[in-house]
This record gives sequence, structure tokens and C-alpha cells, in this order.
Amino acid sequence: MLPLQCGGCGVAGVGWCAACDRELTVRPDQPHLVTPRLDPGVPVLSLGRYAGARRKAVVAVKERGRADLLEPLAGALHTALDQLLTWGLLDTPLTVVPAPTRRSAARRRGGDPVTRLARRAVQGHHGLTVAPALRMKAFTRDSVGLSSAARQRNIAGRIRLTTPVAGSVVVVDDVVTTGATAAESVRVLQTCGADVVAVLALAHA
Ligand SMILES: [Zn+2]
Repeated sequence: MLPLQCGGCGVAGVGWCAACDRELTVRPDQPHLVTPRLDPGVPVLSLGRYAGARRKAVVAVKERGRADLLEPLAGALHTALDQLLTWGLLDTPLTVVPAPTRRSAARRRGGDPVTRLARRAVQGHHGLTVAPALRMKAFTRDSVGLSSAARQRNIAGRIRLTTPVAGSVVVVDDVVTTGATAAESVRVLQTCGADVVAVLALAHA
């Protein structure tokens, strides 16, 4: 057994410490609008910079299978959905569609973390359902280290719809970087007739 360490700062003895929890706390004015280089044509909202405890927790879930950290991350996403519903930026009934993860990556990491986050985040919300309707085709390269143009080429035509989605949709993702995945996800959903209202991410880089 590895010694228990905070997924945000590495302090021993606790999986997620109070200081990191404060860092992840959603303030009343969050999430914020952000402008990724590739504009998906709908508002993109983020809970904060991809840095510090937020970044460490996302990486730990994705790369090291720290499923215990899904809880604080999903809690932040839950609060973000609350605020957006309160502000009237989102309205129910609403379908939450997780942005697709490369299938090989998801398998290696023990299940798609974004879908797991979304499922936890909608718990207790009436009128919100999760539909994992998007899939990244096999052999899509990991986009880490690619320029935004290269990312767009890498993603274009590689996301497909696995199940029809109708009505209002919000796309959720863990991190928005260039916006390539978000833009292609929105495009695919719109092509099938869904009304994509926004993209919501735990972090933006
Ligand atoms: Zn910590």
C-alpha cells in the first residue's frame, strides 16, 4: 500500500487536505467565461486555471487512478451547475454530455473519468441527466504537446455520436486547452440536432 497522500499538494496522512479543498471551492462568481483559441461557438465556462491543486487532482484521477479525488472534483462541478442554473445560463431539462476521452486512454485509466465526474456532479439535481453520447475514434493521438492547429487536425472527424441526444445540452470536460475537442464535440452534437448551450470545464489551460 502506498502511504496516503493529498492528491493536491502531497501532504501525508490525508487523501485531500483542507487547504486544497479551499483552493477548489467554487466562489459565487464562478465559473468564468474563457476564450479558447478554437471557438466552439457557444460559451465556454471554466472553474479556474489548470494549475495548483486543481491540476494535480485532475492528473491524479486521470493518470494514477485516484478515484477518491473524483469526489471533490465532482463537488465543484455540481456547484458550478447550480450557479449556472441559478443565473439562468442553463435551464432544465438538460442533458450533460461528457467530452470524449481517447478509448485506449480511458481503458488504461480504469474507466472514463469525465463520465464518472459528470455522473457524480448531477446527483441531487432534478432535470439533469448524463448521456455519454460521444466517442473518440480509435487511433486518435494523444493531443499533449500538439499545437492548436495540429490538435484541430487530430480531432477533426474523429468524434462520433454513439446515441442520439435531443434538447438542451451542456458539454462537460475536465480541462479545456485549445478548445479543439470542445469545438468538435459541439459541432457533432449540433449536427444531430441538439441545442448545445455551453461547455463547462473544471479547468482551462
Ligand atoms: Zn493538499
